[in-house]
Amino acid sequence: MLILVINCGSSSAKYQLFDIKKNKSVAKGIVEKIGEKGAVCKDHYQAIGIIRDRLLRDRKKILKDINELKGIGHRVVHGGEEFNKAVFIDKKVLRSIESASELAPLHNPPSLAGIKACKRYFSGIPQVAVFDTAFHQTMPAHSYIYGIPFDFYKKYKIRRYGFHGTSHWFVAGEAARILKKPLRKLKIITVHLGNGCSMTAVLKGKSVDTSMGFTPLEGLIMGTRSGDIDPAIVTFLMEKNKLSAEKVAEILNKKSGLLGISGLSNDMRDIICGMKKGNKRAKLAFDIFVYKIKKYIGAYQAVMGGADAVVLTGGIGENVPVLKNRLSNELRSALGAKTKFMIVPTNEELLIARDTYGLIK
Ligand code: ADP
Repeated sequence: MLILVINCGSSSAKYQLFDIKKNKSVAKGIVEKIGEKGAVCKDHYQAIGIIRDRLLRDRKKILKDINELKGIGHRVVHGGEEFNKAVFIDKKVLRSIESASELAPLHNPPSLAGIKACKRYFSGIPQVAVFDTAFHQTMPAHSYIYGIPFDFYKKYKIRRYGFHGTSHWFVAGEAARILKKPLRKLKIITVHLGNGCSMTAVLKGKSVDTSMGFTPLEGLIMGTRSGDIDPAIVTFLMEKNKLSAEKVAEILNKKSGLLGISGLSNDMRDIICGMKKGNKRAKLAFDIFVYKIKKYIGAYQAVMGGADAVVLTGGIGENVPVLKNRLSNELRSALGAKTKFMIVPTNEELLIARDTYGLIK
C-alpha cells in the first residue's frame, strides 16, 4: 500500500513514497530553489507536477498509476489551536490552515500551495494534514500562556504553540520501545537539534512543555536563530541603530545563533572544525549551545519530577556523539544514574505516512 508524503518549505518541496505495510521508504527526492533564478520551476504548483512526473517515470516502476496511491500526507507547520491530531483535508480544514497562515506566514502558504496542487495533480486521492504544532496541544495553560496582557491571547492568539511536534512524538515513542516500557509510564525529555532546535517535556506520552513558542524563534540557540533573549534587546536595537521591526526580525532569525556568535557558520560541522583549529568564538558558540540544552533539561526534569530518558535527535543530535557524552557527564550528578541518555534518529516522514494510513484505514 503506497502513501506519498509531501513537505513543502519556502523554496523546496520534499517527497517520500512509503510502502506503509512494510514500513519502508521506496522513493524520495526534492525539488529545490523553487521560484529562484535558474530554477526548474517557478512555484510549488509546478513543483508538485514535477514530483508526479518523477514518480510515474521512475525506472523502478513502483508507481505505475496515480490511483495506486492510497493517500497523501502533508506536513503542515502551523495548525493553530484547532488541530491536535492529523485530519483529512476538506474545504473547512483548508480554510483553517489558511487562517493559521497569519501565525506562520513563511511556513503555511507553501504547504497550502502544495495541497492545492496535489488536489489537481493527484485528483481523487485522499489527502491528510499532519501538523507540527498538534502534539503540543496537550500543554497546560500555565505552560503556554505568556506573561503579557491576557487580551493579546484572546484577540491575536499569542501563546506558546511549539513546533517539531511530529519529531518529538516519534522519538519519544521510539525511546519507549527501546526502553521496553509504555510511554504512559515514562518521563522523557526529547531534544531535536537540526537547523532549528527545540526540546519537549513528554510526560506519560503527552507534551507538557516545549521550548519553541509563538514562533520557532524561542528556546535553544539554533543555526541562525537567537533562541531566548531579553525582549528589551529588540526595542533597544530598534532605538539605538534605528532599525525597523523587519530588520530586527531578520537579525534574530537569520544572523544570530551559532552563526551570530561564532561569526563563522551556522553549520555545526564548521563549528566543530573551527573548535578543533582553536577558533575561540566557535568554541564559545558550542559552549553556549550545550549550556542552553543543559538549562532546559534541568527545567523539564523539575517540571516532570524526574526524567527517565533524555533523547537526542536531528542532524546535530544524531551525529555529534561528543554532545551526548558531555551532557551525560555534566548532568550525571544532577539527574542521577537512572536517567538514560539516548540517540534516536528521527523520521518525521514515516510518522506522517503512518498518520495518513491511520486515517485512511
Ligand atoms: P533540518 O532541521 O533542516 O532538518 P538537519 O536535521 O539535517 O536539519 O540538521 C542540520 C544540522 O545538522 C546542521 O547544523 C549540520 O551541521 C548538522 N550535522 C549534520 N550532519 C552532521 C555531522 N556528521 N556532524 C556534525 N553535525 C552534523
